[in-house]
Amino acid sequence: MRDQHIMDAIKGHILDLWIEIHRDGFNTFSYYSYLNELLYQQFQLKNVEYYFIEEKQLRKLRHHQQDFQSHHIALDCILTHIQNNSIHHLVSSVQIHHPEVNDALIIRQKGDVEGVLFFTSSPKWEEFKQSDYFAELMESFYESARTIKQQYQNRAENRLNKELLKMTELFHSTMNVEHIIDALLQELESKFPQYEHQLILSNDQEHQLPKNVSVYDYINERPATTESFVSGHLVHENFEEHGLTSLCAPIKGRQGTYGVIRIEKHEKYQFTEYDERKLSFLGDTSGKALENAKLYGQSHRLVSDLQFINESFHDLNMNLSQKEMLEYLSKQISKAFKPSELAVVFMNQRLEMETGTTPYFYSNESAVYLEYIGEHFSRTNEPLFVADFQELIDLEIPYASLMAVPIIIREKVHGFVLLVHEEAYYFSFDSYKLIQSIIRHSSLAISNVILREQLQEMVNRDNLTKLFARHYLDSFVEKAMHIDRQGVFVLFDIDDFKQVNDKFGHHQGDRVLEHVAKIIQEEVGECGIGARWGGEELAVYLPNNQLLNSQQIVARISQRIATETVPKVTVSAGVSYWNHHRKHVTYQSLFKEADAALYFAKGNGKNQAQIYTKKMEIKESL
Ligand code: GH3
Ligand code: MG
Ligand code: MG
Repeated sequence: MRDQHIMDAIKGHILDLWIEIHRDGFNTFSYYSYLNELLYQQFQLKNVEYYFIEEKQLRKLRHHQQDFQSHHIALDCILTHIQNNSIHHLVSSVQIHHPEVNDALIIRQKGDVEGVLFFTSSPKWEEFKQSDYFAELMESFYESARTIKQQYQNRAENRLNKELLKMTELFHSTMNVEHIIDALLQELESKFPQYEHQLILSNDQEHQLPKNVSVYDYINERPATTESFVSGHLVHENFEEHGLTSLCAPIKGRQGTYGVIRIEKHEKYQFTEYDERKLSFLGDTSGKALENAKLYGQSHRLVSDLQFINESFHDLNMNLSQKEMLEYLSKQISKAFKPSELAVVFMNQRLEMETGTTPYFYSNESAVYLEYIGEHFSRTNEPLFVADFQELIDLEIPYASLMAVPIIIREKVHGFVLLVHEEAYYFSFDSYKLIQSIIRHSSLAISNVILREQLQEMVNRDNLTKLFARHYLDSFVEKAMHIDRQGVFVLFDIDDFKQVNDKFGHHQGDRVLEHVAKIIQEEVGECGIGARWGGEELAVYLPNNQLLNSQQIVARISQRIATETVPKVTVSAGVSYWNHHRKHVTYQSLFKEADAALYFAKGNGKNQAQIYTKKMEIKESL
């Protein structure tokens, strides 16, 4: 009767407990206190402690995080006693650490051991054990233990899920690869403080790697790391002889594996199920985030590359001159690739530096680069990427990285663009691809402008003499008179040219005319321009030239014509000039004055040059 009383009371308490369990704030410690109190009240049991099985350890139901380590009992030494239901042996092996314990209850659930209740027994308890109600009591304990364990697991699960959710949020809050790697390291630091950790990333990293991060070494990586990387699974590793235990999780996205996270301990060790789940989750989440960031970066780069190409291409087709175009192109290239020096080179008989080339490539020092690249493109039209030029060359050189892309016009290498930088491995492979596509796109525009300028040149030049045509001279002088402060105009006429034609034929006359033009061109050079005025009259304009200087040029021209032509001819010349003091001078009057001076020279016995003076004007008007 008394036992039934006890049983009823216990049942009542357990019912209360079940209601309590689902209340907020009820924790394992509450349960423990409750159970403790109940067993004390009913049986005067003391030192009641409940241990449940988790991760192959008997884990004490705990309230504080702090008592975590101290209250576990390693399972392997007492497992056999539990399995054999040998309470006596179980108690005596636990007594070494817990001398107050002298009895235990093994709580089972459908035959599986759920946990063990240790305590200090009492006479009342010993008596109750013999009663018919004992089995019923055990049943109630089993039930409540199961519920509480479930509750405990739910809470642990909940805590883990919250942690994992936080991780996910953290990783997906950024699209920056470096930030994700930093976050991953921080997570490892905070979630696995008791282990050493290492990130092994596959080797397409563009960034500087922080401490604890290495690039996957295909040859020397440890087997478990490789296995995890290749298989995409969690892999355990046990180096018993080195006392090293490690756990590797792949950093895995949907499209590939980006590396491995490794945690390890320098002892024989058993990682918990939570460790495994957390680590593999960390690998998955960071892998997906890393993949997203990479894809985002790639698509971003792709879009900006396309925009860049498009922009450049559009601007290049805006009817620029060759000079303007090359200037623009080199500016765009400098902006995009930030080379230390840049050369735009056209290859004719020799290498010609074009607009846009930076000063270094005009110096003799640069010959080592230009010759190497020039030689390369004389053999092939393949672009060239050199990560460390120093390795190819014996001399001490200033720039280690180089990229060179040919400018191909009508399937022939017309020239190349060369980018260099001091740092080895400075240019990325992506930028190499980009520069190729820019130059490929620009080549057509460059080719067009070269053709256009050649065509324009043809229109501007006289066919026979290759001097400028009259209309070109007209506009050139008019423009010059607008901008400059002075200039000299010279009109040449071959003396007695009719006789040359008559004696030697029109064809020979043409050759003489060509020769005269050639001499004029050579002597004028960069100082001005020569043009065919009409018939066998040729004109020269020397912008910004002083009269004295031009007289010397005219004298040299006349002298060379007189000695070099076959048959020998001479020329007469009329010279006129203007400067900003003579404000009323127009192109028209300038030409008239030169013509008057020429007329004067002819009348004065030919084979001479005359500078216009006022008295000649009177003569002309006569
Ligand atoms: P001068 O100038 O000394 O007074 O005598 P000229 O015999 O040179 O006389 P003028 O300048 O008046 O004659 C120009 C001649 O030049 C007429 C024409 O036969 C010749 N001529 C003009 N253009 C060409 C040309 O393109 N080819 C050749 N072969 N002859 C030309
Ligand atoms: Mg004439
Ligand atoms: Mg003549």
